[in-house]
This record gives sequence, structure tokens and C-alpha cells, in this order.
Amino acid sequence: MSVGTRVAPAPTVTPNKAYETSLAQYDRAVSHLDLPAGLIEYMRLPKREYTVNFPVRMDNGDVKMFTGYRVHHNLVLGPSKGGIRYAPHVDLNEVRALAMWMTWKCALVGLPYGGAKGGVICDPKKLSDKENEGLTRRFASELVPIISPHSDIPAPDMGTNSQTMAWIMDTYSMTVGYSVPAVVTGKPINIGGSEGREEATGRGVIIVMEEALKRRGRIDRDEIRIAIQGFGNVGAHAALYASELGYKVVAVTDVSGGAYNPDGLDVEALFNFTRAARNNLLKDYASDDVDIIENDELFGVECDVFIPAALEDQVHEGNADDIKASLVVEGANGPTTPGGDDILRDRGIVVVPDILANAGGVTVSYFEWVQDLQNFFWDEVEIMRQLRRILLKAYDKVVAVAEDKDIDMRMAAQIHAINRVAQATLTRGFYP
Ligand code: GLU
Repeated sequence: MSVGTRVAPAPTVTPNKAYETSLAQYDRAVSHLDLPAGLIEYMRLPKREYTVNFPVRMDNGDVKMFTGYRVHHNLVLGPSKGGIRYAPHVDLNEVRALAMWMTWKCALVGLPYGGAKGGVICDPKKLSDKENEGLTRRFASELVPIISPHSDIPAPDMGTNSQTMAWIMDTYSMTVGYSVPAVVTGKPINIGGSEGREEATGRGVIIVMEEALKRRGRIDRDEIRIAIQGFGNVGAHAALYASELGYKVVAVTDVSGGAYNPDGLDVEALFNFTRAARNNLLKDYASDDVDIIENDELFGVECDVFIPAALEDQVHEGNADDIKASLVVEGANGPTTPGGDDILRDRGIVVVPDILANAGGVTVSYFEWVQDLQNFFWDEVEIMRQLRRILLKAYDKVVAVAEDKDIDMRMAAQIHAINRVAQATLTRGFYP
């Protein structure tokens, strides 16, 4: 056996803006609630954090070490739920932030879950399918002690997909000796996945966007111009659904840059192009109807709705003033820094926050888990009906809190979610 060099840096706790952002949001929100100091500290901290260093045999025969994390932030309302991210920038603080946001997201939309998140430091684009499978199966086997349908249920996130979930489900099932579909969500449909899960996050973003527009009297879809940062699972499905409904998607970007047409893009063509080959990038899309733009240019694009659907820390003091939209709908988790938030608020731009706007994904994950546990499957019409019902109910709640306390939607969403976890904790009491 030849042993190669490490591809993953040693696990360190590096300063990460996402964690700072999640804590700053939390501190702001709890200042509106009358809760005991000990309870505030309890909900601020992750319950448990798991770090694992594990070997993977690469195609050339070398063994390389990788580092992965799973953070369980809070389990008061039920088993923890949240995705697994594969990206070179993953670190423990990012996973902590994302786990905390999952707790508030599930609480906000009324799901019987706590929050978790996982990640592996790797570049999935540079792994062959075989290496990706080996990495996933070994990471899954390391996770076996801390995941199950009743304790912690992973799902896809950036850099992972339904195939990743299939490998995790299979590895877990082989270990326990029987098939356990409900241990992960976001699976392929032929092994217990749900109709509509793949599209759910992006569609949910558009459902809440439409609600926000309606409440502002903007109902002519063909007059609404949308710019989207990110063309992964969330951004691409938001773009597809928006254009299917008749909205004008004028700009979309990915890591490479993006496509722009002030009269509206052919989103389906862009989708087919980027999905035709594994690493097809938007900047390489050639068409007379499209101008290729740099990533920074997206912020200055004339539009009515801006949808950050890529990563954390994207809208900040350096670019929040450039945004032309009157509405920002957060497809990504934590895309706006507190400084960016202040600028948008001062400019009168409404922000529909991440924990509401992108909750469609985990909501359909919940439907998938329920269907798996009951071995009774619903059709897509039923999924979409229930998804809309849950998201709009949460939207109403957020608006009610925002109006009552005269605060923005992010603060209102966080206050409502945190209070739900707080009250459940007080009802259960502290053990022993
Ligand atoms: N990764 C998604 C999110 O950030 C989905 C999590 C899930 O379905 O459990 O919401």
C-alpha cells in the first residue's frame, strides 16, 4: 500500500464569517426575548461536534486522508436534520453556523426536528466517481454511530446530491443488516426518495418570493426581473421554476461568471448546458442572446428581485449598496453579513431571510422521511400542495411578528424560531 500526502489540512478552528454572522444574528434576536441567561447560552452552543480523519484509496492506488465534520446543534424538538457539504473551504466553524441555522429553520416552519450539518474538506469536482463513492462510504461508516432515522438524518447540500445519499443509505444499511431508507433524505426516488425533493429548495424560494411580491402589489410576472447568484441545485431550480411561471430571469451566475440578458434568459437552455457535462461552466455558454458577465457585475444588474443562492458572506458592506433590486430572497444559507443587512435595511430593501426562503428543501426532506417511515408514498401534486401550505403559514407568522415588534423579517423569523426552541426546552426542563 502506498500512502500519499494529505489532501485535507489538519482540522483547525479558523475564523469564519458564517459563524460570526450566525452568532451575531442570534444575539440580536434573543435581545428581544425575555429568556433566562442560562437558556440563552444553552441554545447558542452546539450540543456535540464530531470530527473524523479518514483514509480513502485514490484511483492511482495512493491512500489520502480526508477530514469531515458533523455538528448536532440542538435536538430539543426532535432528531437533528441537515445536509452534508463537500467543498474545499469547509471548516468546523462553517459547519457550526450551518447547523445552528438548521435548528432555527426547522423550528420556524414547524418541523419536528433539531438542527445539524456536516461537511468534508474536499473538491468533489476533482474526484472521480469511484473516489467520490469511496470517500462517501468511508465517511458514512464513520457517521454510523451518530446518525439514524431517530437521531440525525443527513441530506444533500453543496457538492453532494442524491447519489451521495444513496451511497450513505447503502453503507448504513449494510452495516446494520437491513435497508433503512429513512436514515437520509434527498435520495433517488427508486430507493425511497420523494417526488419533488430535488426541486424543492429552488421552488420554495420562488413560492416565498411570489408571496413577498404579492404583498407589495406586484402581480404581473412578466414585469418582474430576477437576478440569481448560484446555478447549483438551489439557484438552477429557482431559475427554472421562475421562468416556467413567467418571470423574467435576467441574470444567473456560477463560480465562473454568468449569463445576462435584460429581456430574460432561456433558463432551460442554460440548465441543459451546465448539466450536459460534469464541469460545464456558465462562462463558456455561447449564444447571441446572452452576454457573459463577471461575478461582481451581478450585483449591479438592473432587476426587481436579487436571489443569492450560492454561499455565505456574499452580500456585505462592499456590495450591498450596488444591489438594484427592492427585494432580496435568500436561497443560500447565511448569504448576507450583518453589515450587509444593515445597508439593505437602511435602503428600504426587503430581505426574505434564508431560514424562511430556503426552507422548502428541508420541508420536502421531512415529507420524504415521513413517507419512508410509513412506507406510504405521495404524488408530486400532494407534495407541492403541502410545501406551499407550510411555507406560507411560516411566512404569515414571520410577518405577524415583524409587524408586532416593528422589526425586519430576519429578526422576526429568528425570534419566532428561537422562542419555539426555548419554550420546548423550558417545558422539557433541564436534565437531571
Ligand atoms: N441542505 C439543505 C438545507 O440547507 C437541506 C437540509 C435537509 O433537507 O435536511 O436546508
